[in-house]
Amino acid sequence: MWQAEVRVDLDAIRENVSRLRSGTNAELMAVVKADGYGHGMVPAARAAVDAGADWLGVCTLEEALTLRRAGVAVPVLAWLLAPGLPLHEGVSAGVDLAAASLPQLDEMIEASRRAERPARLHLKIDTGLSRGGATVADWPALLDAAAKAQADGLVEVVGVWSHFVYADMPGHPTTDRQLAVFHEGLAMVERAGLRPRWRHLANSAATLTRPDTHFDLVRPGLAVYGLSPVAGETYGLRPAMTARARVMLTKRVPSGTGVSYGHTYTTASDTNLAVVPLGYGDGVPRHASNSGPVQLAGARRTISGRVCMDQFVLDCGDDPVADGDIATLFGSGADGEPTADDWAEAVGTINYEIVTRFGGTRVPRVYD
Ligand code: PLP
Repeated sequence: MWQAEVRVDLDAIRENVSRLRSGTNAELMAVVKADGYGHGMVPAARAAVDAGADWLGVCTLEEALTLRRAGVAVPVLAWLLAPGLPLHEGVSAGVDLAAASLPQLDEMIEASRRAERPARLHLKIDTGLSRGGATVADWPALLDAAAKAQADGLVEVVGVWSHFVYADMPGHPTTDRQLAVFHEGLAMVERAGLRPRWRHLANSAATLTRPDTHFDLVRPGLAVYGLSPVAGETYGLRPAMTARARVMLTKRVPSGTGVSYGHTYTTASDTNLAVVPLGYGDGVPRHASNSGPVQLAGARRTISGRVCMDQFVLDCGDDPVADGDIATLFGSGADGEPTADDWAEAVGTINYEIVTRFGGTRVPRVYD
């Protein structure tokens, strides 16, 4: 018997990946960082690869090494690398690394020496996000240094890439501007004598809405898990995650009863309360206090009072609820339950954050 669980439908992940894969002529990198957006990095990666993902994308070196230790053999790119990491371990494990500055390039050259093989690098250029990536002014120095290191056999520049600001808002002019800057960057890469095999730019939103940004490789994350990056569109994707728990206690209380810390909710009549054993320690945002939607005993309800670390309360009125009944926070929506999108709207965040919060908590993840 389970108390609370996060169910992950790996068939949904497989279906989503093959849908995305068949919508492009480019190769596909399934982004599985942050514990596979909460779905479990290794199972999500395996499902994605089963369904045709050619690459996996992660942020940290440790995530990439974890994939390799799990026996995942497809190309893996790691793109968030602070100074001083044992990058040679990544190079030895055949992990591709993202470089966006001369100091990073130097570290990767050093890692290649230690690993006694050239690091495979993807040069990241900033086309407008102002996050990772070399600025336009810094491209020439980075490209020249990378070309020289490649000529010396120290590194192999296999990729050049960037990331969008507004792809989730189809038609936003910034996307066109970034694409134009990316083309300029590609021309400069060529002038530097580099011929990287993979040029890549598209996240889920661009993969779904902008085929002209696909180049050689697309990098969807969110859509792999069946969630849409664009409000109001589903693109036929199937959400993979369901979060649910069994009611641990029901009780009848009188009208005027204050509920949970701070009594931010007071019952309006004599009513049945159901206590659900999931809280912010499990991934439920505390912002869902008095707003999070939950399906229980055939009806959609709203969390009553504050979400605690380990539990929250639902006011069920006169509906018959029983200990052990299943309260579904979100799922695919196929059975009328709320979705991660509903939760995002209720708590003022994005669907990405809702599912990612359920990664790596004490709640067991169960795979279908
Ligand atoms: N590429 C990079 C560099 C990212 O950081 C991310 C995720 O944030 C992705 C691709 C995937 O983005 P999305 O989940 O919107 O598809």
